[in-house]
Amino acid sequence: MKVDALQCLSCKDILYARARHDLRPCACGAIYVSASTAHATPVEVEVDVTLSELYDDWNLRRDEFGLITTKFQRRRGWKLSEL
Ligand SMILES: [Zn+2]
Repeated sequence: MKVDALQCLSCKDILYARARHDLRPCACGAIYVSASTAHATPVEVEVDVTLSELYDDWNLRRDEFGLITTKFQRRRGWKLSEL
């Protein structure tokens, strides 16, 4: 499914909310998923997960989803213009 995400302009981490009350910072702490978008670029990413799996990930604090680190993006060879 496609989710609306934000990319931090400082550390380039990508975050997306897993639930309405999700609150998670990027690596440098400049943005949270529910914070102002002034310091972030809106991006859309494809994630292989259902909405209820995202909710459970947040609710049970598994923290497997909701954050795409720059390390992960580099491993996958992602570039912002390709997102
Ligand atoms: Zn950041």
